[in-house]
Amino acid sequence: MNDELNKFVRWRKNMVENQIIARGIMDPAVIDAMTHVPRHLFVSEAMADSAYGDFPLPIGEGQTISQPYIIAEMTQRLELSGSERVLEIGTGSGYQAAILSQIVYRVYTIERNNTLFLQTRKLFDKLKYHNIVTRYSDGTQGWKQESPFDAIIVTAGGNQIPEPLVDQLAVGGRLVMPVGGHYSQELLKIEKTKTGIITTNLGGCRFVKLIGQHGWRE
Ligand code: SAH
Repeated sequence: MNDELNKFVRWRKNMVENQIIARGIMDPAVIDAMTHVPRHLFVSEAMADSAYGDFPLPIGEGQTISQPYIIAEMTQRLELSGSERVLEIGTGSGYQAAILSQIVYRVYTIERNNTLFLQTRKLFDKLKYHNIVTRYSDGTQGWKQESPFDAIIVTAGGNQIPEPLVDQLAVGGRLVMPVGGHYSQELLKIEKTKTGIITTNLGGCRFVKLIGQHGWRE
């Protein structure tokens, strides 16, 4: 059992060194979170030995958990300092939310697939991630009652940034989301300022589909 645990700790350390730090991620909070969150517990047992590899993994229901580097890059781009309330669209396995929960005050995460929603909510309880609040709904409509958010991360790809999410972003806030076609997208970062929106293109990526009122049709 202890050897098993040590194995995962060692693999995780290697992942952080070779995939995260070596590729230029410098935010200490992101590095610390990725060093501590047990990624292998967010995938099925059969997949646990692959959890620290340099690739995305299936999480059931036709969905995937992103490659570790993409998660680090998206999280770093949110420029978090600790006091934030962050909204995530696409809870999936819960790994991205768990990373955020180590860095910020509170994470609000929405999932539209009921199986994943129930399964991941249970996992958050079991692993005692008490600052993650979950919701089963269409995340393209955001979470108006809890808005505005200091940062928003969308972990599925749409053809546009959903208008409600821009509305629910605080002035001074950052939003990161893959935008494009069905099979490939560009990772966009937007910053909301007093006078308008600043958009930065962070490069190509590939995500599962964001499905909902302000996303793709089912
Ligand atoms: N952040 C997740 C990634 C999961 S993949 C993780 O760390 O594992 C993307 C997820 O987005 C899928 O679970 C999919 O069901 C969900 N999704 C797609 N469209 C959605 C929507 N409109 N609202 C909420 N979740 C959505």
